[in-house]
Amino acid sequence: MENFELLSELVKIIEEKKIILNGDLASLYKKQAESSVNQKQISDKISAIEAEAASITKERIEKYKTFWHSLSSDHAPPCPLCFVIKGRHSDLQAEPRMTKEHFRCRECKMWFHIPLPGA
Ligand SMILES: [Zn+2]
Repeated sequence: MENFELLSELVKIIEEKKIILNGDLASLYKKQAESSVNQKQISDKISAIEAEAASITKERIEKYKTFWHSLSSDHAPPCPLCFVIKGRHSDLQAEPRMTKEHFRCRECKMWFHIPLPGA
């Protein structure tokens, strides 16, 4: 698939997702250290987010890019979150609107708002 602008925007989203998850972890670690209640709940949440953040690696992002390039040009873009985090292929459905292109993943139900080139 040739749409390189879209690919680089989706890769940016997955890279930002890792930064967001690490930010969530930092505040959870703080909460865990300061709070004496809900310790089990907090540590379960930490484990889940740690696993998610750990799954976002350069190697997996490279695999996503390779997979993207292997798709034909009429194929729907694959969801970067499903591919990188869960190792699953799920198509994004496009819903073109005003100045941004809106995509939604059928699997994880995540919305992606991608600015169109020149918009
Ligand atoms: Zn998805």
